[in-house]
Amino acid sequence: MTRTSVYMEELDAFTYSRKISAEDGIVLIPAGAIEQHGPHMPLNVDVLLSRAMAGEVAEQIGALVAAPIMYGYKSQQRSGGGNHLPGTTSLDGATVAAIARSLTLELARHGARRIVFVNGHFENYQFLYEGVDLAIRELQLAGLDDRRVMLLSYWDFVDDTTIRELYPDGFSGWDVEHGGVLETSLMLHLYPERVDMEQVEDFPPAVLPNYDLLPVRPELTPGSGCLSSAAKASADKGEILLKRASNSMADAISHEFRRDQR
Ligand SMILES: [Zn+2]
Repeated sequence: MTRTSVYMEELDAFTYSRKISAEDGIVLIPAGAIEQHGPHMPLNVDVLLSRAMAGEVAEQIGALVAAPIMYGYKSQQRSGGGNHLPGTTSLDGATVAAIARSLTLELARHGARRIVFVNGHFENYQFLYEGVDLAIRELQLAGLDDRRVMLLSYWDFVDDTTIRELYPDGFSGWDVEHGGVLETSLMLHLYPERVDMEQVEDFPPAVLPNYDLLPVRPELTPGSGCLSSAAKASADKGEILLKRASNSMADAISHEFRRDQR
């Protein structure tokens, strides 16, 4: 146990309680998934990366990081390879919304006034939004209308200059980045022992139709389960991505949440 950790679950209850209920306290909730990430990375990439991103931001702005949401909404074929793939273990949308609602209300009960969901799994976003919306409505009806919740996905904080720098051959979009350069580079920087670059399959980005058809046609997903190649991933790129995305998230959160407390 440590009294200085930014991670909630590593603190004792009394230190936690003091930090979360502080007037200027901010708590970040990482939202991940258990989802296949190709033959070169583990199933919990989205948990590890959203938690690490949140940890980096928390150090900068003096926030706490709540224990992560481990499971996520169903993987979509056009952004995560599809929910039919082995290992991918997902929740129904109503369950994700219910978790987001419960956690918002629980942390508010602990005294949190400012909460941020740091999303690391593309498909989670709208369900987290729904849960937060329900919680805010409940808090407002209870007269607690000073509570604020922010939602973001960390890759939206990688700016165009960084994209041009890290993808010199062109960028195909965050949706097909599943298991590609972004996630693999971050993993190589943060958890190199959990990546096996020898297993990476090098192929052009997947081309999927601009619509969905259910049940999915598994043959549309590349055999590796990844939607683009991780061959050009590196730990150096991961370090740049972590630094720039976390700095920019820290700026946005401070802008929204520190300003109105002055
Ligand atoms: Zn992922």
